[in-house]
Amino acid sequence: MRIVIAGTGIVGLTAGIALRTMGAEVLLCEQAPEIRAAGASIGIWENALKVFDEFGAGKEVRAIGTTLETWFFDAAGRRSRAPGFAVEDYSFELMPRPVLNEILADAAGRKNIRLNSKVIGFKEDADGVTVELADGTSERADLLIGADGVYSAVRNQLVPGFPAQKHAGHHVWRAMMPSGNEPKEGTVLTVGHKRTRGGFTHTHGGQVTWMVNQFDSPEPTGSKREEALKRAANMNDDGWGEPLLRLIESTPEDHIIHNQIMFVPTLPHWTSSRVALMGDAAHGLSPHISAGGTLGIEDVLVLVRSMQRSSSLAAALVEYEKNRKPHYQKVHELADAVERAGDAEEYALHQARFSHWMLNDGAANSRT
Ligand SMILES: Cc1cc2nc3c(=O)[nH]c(=O)nc-3n(C[C@H](O)[C@H](O)[C@H](O)COP(=O)(O)OP(=O)(O)OC[C@H]3O[C@@H](n4cnc5c(N)ncnc54)[C@H](O)[C@@H]3O)c2cc1C
Repeated sequence: MRIVIAGTGIVGLTAGIALRTMGAEVLLCEQAPEIRAAGASIGIWENALKVFDEFGAGKEVRAIGTTLETWFFDAAGRRSRAPGFAVEDYSFELMPRPVLNEILADAAGRKNIRLNSKVIGFKEDADGVTVELADGTSERADLLIGADGVYSAVRNQLVPGFPAQKHAGHHVWRAMMPSGNEPKEGTVLTVGHKRTRGGFTHTHGGQVTWMVNQFDSPEPTGSKREEALKRAANMNDDGWGEPLLRLIESTPEDHIIHNQIMFVPTLPHWTSSRVALMGDAAHGLSPHISAGGTLGIEDVLVLVRSMQRSSSLAAALVEYEKNRKPHYQKVHELADAVERAGDAEEYALHQARFSHWMLNDGAANSRT
């Protein structure tokens, strides 16, 4: 079987690794001139790490993780966790995104990756799919996977009328810096005033990563550093936020990433007989649950299992979609409750409800 994957983000690369272990010939088409990893660091939860284990990349990926057992702090640094949950419900491995993507690209096989290759469309017929590229060439395959992120060209053709949308007023600023004298424990996650969240934490390779998020944020008008500092001030009762403020002040403007958060509306379908969406292309989520990438990695497992079990590719894609759509309905329900949380205690409760579900019932559903 020949499979073309559009996109070499964390999900496309994972799909490349997994489908090769099934014996498929894989071509990963990436529009950028390099393997990109937008963002500083990413929290990868145990359910996704198990997927990497299953497809042989777990050891290398786990080696770059720093275990983060999150507490939820108010603006004055009073910490809480919801009673009745295990420490696993608060724990993930924090990884530097660029290093993670390089490891995954090596595991997927560099010779299977074609850079500067933008997928612009496809044509399906009874025998396969022709994938059209921006340079005028095309690739013939049995299956096209759209793992091309929130602005997915594959989704735009497969499910017209569902472009990425702005999560109104939701902005995030983040960066990674060499660690200095910041307190060892970090301040993730502080839930401050005016719907602001953020903090810093130490990570792989002597680095410290910081982020500042705000729901219902006024439109940013100043420099990235100025805007991040304005929001970080909402998490600084009694000096709790001073180390974060110092860190932001010392971060060069061009190191700071600012995003208006985007999301993908719920899609009526994710597949046709020869095309499947996965990762952010299918379900780009607001990042306040810190798990969009983790969940996308599980999409890969579900697709592979469906392909192994089904009598035909078309039947496998039906099974894949049948599993994923209700799964993400539940993700949205739990994530929306986190978004509505008014303070650190409520945030801790709803985040733990989400992660507990994801690591238990959700993971079991992805492994059936
Ligand atoms: C601020 C923030 C914090 C987050 N924190 C976490 C976290 O802690 N844990 C977690 O699990 N998730 C987190 N997420 C979510 C996570 O980053 C995404 O869910 C994940 O990166 C999606 O991976 P992907 O491979 O689906 O898409 P992407 O990473 O967007 O990759 C898509 C790739 O496709 C390429 N591409 C696009 N169009 C085309 C085309 N037409 N042809 C060819 N290539 C194309 C792009 O260049 C890119 O390389 C966070 C997100 C944000 C914004």
